[in-house]
Amino acid sequence: MFPIFKTKIKSLPAGRQGLKKRFDLNNPKERKEYFELKTGKEIKKLRDYFKKGNTFIAYLIGKKNSGKGTYSKMFAETIDPERVEHFSVGDMIREIDQELKDKKKRKELINFLEKNYRGWSSTKELILALEKRSTKTLLPTGLILALIKREIAKRKKKALFIDGFPRDLDQINFTLFFRDLIGYRQDPDLFVLIDVPERVIDERIKYRRVCPRCQTSRSLKLFPTSKIGYDSKKKEFYLLCDNPQCKEVKLLPKEGDSSGIKLIKGRLKKDEKLIAQAISLYGIPKVFLRNSVPKSKAQGYVDDYEITPEYKYLWSEKEKKVVVKEKPWLILNDEGKEAYSLLAAPVALSLIKQITKVLNL
Ligand SMILES: [Zn+2]
Repeated sequence: MFPIFKTKIKSLPAGRQGLKKRFDLNNPKERKEYFELKTGKEIKKLRDYFKKGNTFIAYLIGKKNSGKGTYSKMFAETIDPERVEHFSVGDMIREIDQELKDKKKRKELINFLEKNYRGWSSTKELILALEKRSTKTLLPTGLILALIKREIAKRKKKALFIDGFPRDLDQINFTLFFRDLIGYRQDPDLFVLIDVPERVIDERIKYRRVCPRCQTSRSLKLFPTSKIGYDSKKKEFYLLCDNPQCKEVKLLPKEGDSSGIKLIKGRLKKDEKLIAQAISLYGIPKVFLRNSVPKSKAQGYVDDYEITPEYKYLWSEKEKKVVVKEKPWLILNDEGKEAYSLLAAPVALSLIKQITKVLNL
């Protein structure tokens, strides 16, 4: 269902012989060159499209921690950060906590809901639902719709990647007519479906390390900082923050992260059903993003620098320093086959190409 997207190129295009053949995709400058080389034509078309005042609404549908934010932010960064935005429903709800604490803003929110919400709850019940919400219960769909509508109105003339809606099967129906409901001009809407092996999600969580000062999130195994420390007593390696302001503070795991996907199994099952449901829809254009490529096919489809490396560390007693080893990260995909996980850039590349196609540019 999720086709493998070919990002490998055999040779450099005519007249571009001076360009590099390999790119460090974690380096923003080299990433820019990479996109220029591999999808320069589509980037130009999309920029023109936005410059003429066109937009789109894309609904991101993928499992929790599948990289929805990363891919769409990379799309925005590459095409036009002024005109494209990643919009997270989760962040929106968390920001409302601040609004509710401010007397004036709270009143404004109540007024807005009285005018814009339609459904079976009173405004009082809605505010209570926001204040007493938990991760287990979903907020009423009508409330989410009204709040998204309010946010979209603040972002006129922008293309949006909506992350976190639809979250449930019954919300899919609303998505289909959402554009009409909010009168979002006649600009196209589409679904972006993301396929990531659960093993990838699991290890992303397990090895995640966060800077306690600047909140930068990295991975001990998959995306280390430039400085690695070693605790000889615990025989453990750790990351030190690169940000000069943080003065080499140690990055730490978040609470619960060591258990990986165990704590979100139920949520992942639900997300899986949602993806299957969205795939079977007619009438709305769909973009398919896949994070992994079977090992047996990788050579024909991707360049080796597009594959996520894994990092291993050794302590050299002689030199008194950490030695870093890098190799392609091999995982078992959901079918139990050996596969490579792709870095974010090649996935964002396929997003750029497919959206250009969906928009008929
Ligand atoms: Zn930091």
